[in-house]
Amino acid sequence: MQLTSQCIVCDADVQLPKDVQISEIVSCLECKTNLVVERINEMKIALSKAPAVEEDWGE
Ligand SMILES: [Zn+2]
Repeated sequence: MQLTSQCIVCDADVQLPKDVQISEIVSCLECKTNLVVERINEMKIALSKAPAVEEDWGE
């Protein structure tokens, strides 16, 4: 089964991996916004907008 949540910016469905973790970053395919997984409560997943800061992931 596919987990989905709604983009807080454009209300599009955002598909999430079934092993999604809190604070994982996903991006909306519609508006390209980066969203962070804030809460996972069974089938309900709360997303919030990820900080727009371009971070260097230190590779
Ligand atoms: Zn969106």
